[in-house]
Amino acid sequence: MYVIGIDIGGTKIAVSLGTDTGEIPCSKRLDNKDSSPDDMLPAIVLAARELLESEGLTSNNVAAAGIGAPSPIDIPNGLITRPHNLRQWVDVPIRDFIARELGAETFFENDANAGALAEWMFGAGGHVDNMIYLTMSTGIGGGVIADGRLLHGASFLAGEVGHMSLDPGGPLCECGMKGCYEAFCGGRAVAKRMRGYLADKPDHRIVELAGGDLDKVDMPALRAAVGEGDAYALALWDEFCLRNAQAMGALINIFNPERVVLGTIALASGDMFLDPLKKRLPEFCWDETLSACQLALSSLGGGIAEYSGVCVALNGLIEKGDLVLSRV
Ligand SMILES: [Zn+2]
Repeated sequence: MYVIGIDIGGTKIAVSLGTDTGEIPCSKRLDNKDSSPDDMLPAIVLAARELLESEGLTSNNVAAAGIGAPSPIDIPNGLITRPHNLRQWVDVPIRDFIARELGAETFFENDANAGALAEWMFGAGGHVDNMIYLTMSTGIGGGVIADGRLLHGASFLAGEVGHMSLDPGGPLCECGMKGCYEAFCGGRAVAKRMRGYLADKPDHRIVELAGGDLDKVDMPALRAAVGEGDAYALALWDEFCLRNAQAMGALINIFNPERVVLGTIALASGDMFLDPLKKRLPEFCWDETLSACQLALSSLGGGIAEYSGVCVALNGLIEKGDLVLSRV
């Protein structure tokens, strides 16, 4: 069975041909920086048609299409409403456009849920019945698989784990609340905090590691300073790991997952992150839930965009009862 997957990112759009056994016979990436949807929507359709043609297929061979897009999106109406990283994309009716042009039923999810489906079906999630996926890069997003299906919620906002408040006296989050998980642990929030502390310390090692440019202070510079034993970096990293443990511990107790799959920051940090995280987790969840849960690093990594849209399409067919995915 063939499906078309579309992953809309702030700088790239991945268009992929995929199958229900997890193969991606071919895919294309389109440049999406400062783009207009009037240009990109026809380009997506053209790319999909070219992929089909290259495999000797036509739209008639496509069982469904799937789209993963950055929030905020309007799932019932199939609209990309106003993502902060796609300024010209306002109330874009992408789902119905793709469905009409490709002549295929088209399913739509936010990008974190699409990533969760991808890791669950064909990545480190291992298709277990209960899994949480955490995308941890500039922000923190997530997706929850509970009892064998993606949790959508009453208004399709389930799994917005980055906006669970960990401390009412904590830093202001971009969402308007205080002390959100993302406001403590998102890459953008951590960088902002470091820039505040380092503003009057131009000779600090972290600034040096960022090429001497305070505006370029980021997670890699922090990690490098931790590796060198810098006292401020170590203290900040300790708090970063503690807040991650607090948030993940809550999720582990609430959802009782077999597996938590961790994306970007965890992937880049490895044991420097995982070791303190594992040490702190028992403070925030029970032995019974923690012992049932395995922490895993994303195995799709940078290739996740090629799978995301494909897995949205497959999941749409599964939820309709038109497909049963065999365990891989
Ligand atoms: Zn928030």
